[in-house]
Amino acid sequence: MTVVTHAEAFLVDVEVEQTRTDAVQAFTSQETVFVELTTADGNTGLGYSYTIGTGGSSVLALLRDHLLPRLRGQDPRRIEALWRDLFAATRATTVGAITSLALAAVDTALWDLKCRRAGEPLWRVAGGFRPRVPLYDTEGGWLHLSTEELVAGAKAAATAGWGGVKVKVGRPDDLERLTAVREAVGPRCDLMVDANQSMTAAEAVRRAAAFAPLDLFWLEEPLPADDVSGHARLAAATAIPVAVGESLYSVAQFRDYLHRGAASIVQPDVARVGGITPWLKVAHLAEAFTVDVCPHFLMELHVSLAAAVPNGRYVEHIPQLRAITRTELTVENGFAVPPETPGLGIDWDRDAMDDRRTS
Ligand code: MG
Repeated sequence: MTVVTHAEAFLVDVEVEQTRTDAVQAFTSQETVFVELTTADGNTGLGYSYTIGTGGSSVLALLRDHLLPRLRGQDPRRIEALWRDLFAATRATTVGAITSLALAAVDTALWDLKCRRAGEPLWRVAGGFRPRVPLYDTEGGWLHLSTEELVAGAKAAATAGWGGVKVKVGRPDDLERLTAVREAVGPRCDLMVDANQSMTAAEAVRRAAAFAPLDLFWLEEPLPADDVSGHARLAAATAIPVAVGESLYSVAQFRDYLHRGAASIVQPDVARVGGITPWLKVAHLAEAFTVDVCPHFLMELHVSLAAAVPNGRYVEHIPQLRAITRTELTVENGFAVPPETPGLGIDWDRDAMDDRRTS
């Protein structure tokens, strides 16, 4: 048996790589919360979590004040037991974003450690279903971009063999923009649409009918994430698959969506759902409902998870760790290839991280 001897958390502020806007927000900075664990036998695990601009210091405080002290002296191989212990210890603030983000930083560190000890990459340790995953692009579809820019980005992705492109909606000219992109990429490229929770249920039903000729691959976050009934109503009214998940913070919230037929694609975010341990439960739960998993953001980590499970359908292309990593996501012929290095497989640049450390 080995035990955790040292657990540390720190915050790194990573600049956004380009302006990113949607119907309700802008991505201002990536507050990246790291947890590093060291064991008595000399192994280490480095995990992380993030926010897009608010709450990072709160996540850090929760880790330092309440979670990390509970890890010292514990067997890091008992990930399920540790996750449950930390969850129970923070009962007063669960289920909630700050706690889930903090749990994720610990959980991903435990998985990094587990994979490193095994000498295996995450994608195989977590299931090993496929050695590459189709990729779709979000980076060329932000709301502030002109129609010409949207079309140019979509064409480039389609030409490179990527499976799909996503366009943000929330403008009066959405239909013209989407039509231009569809005409540019042709019928074989998947076209996704993301409303970022900006519509009412009635509006979403109406907009989905207007979008019907575009043969959309999915309509993402049409309504506020806590309106499961509204999503169920929309899903029953349209042939466009409804995608949700980036704003859900527990396995049980996914269960409610799936049970009620309110989601046709789930998009768990490994940080927001509390780590790899609950992420895999969401993926397996979705599989039982014959629902595919297309994780939100964090492509550098999600590539390994989408590759691990049978229903991993897509990886979302938004590069955001290049400032603090030494290698990038491998893309081959439009597919994302999970790293083969032991652990999470992210090649962190510790000097660049130190330069951006704020706490
Ligand atoms: Mg989204």
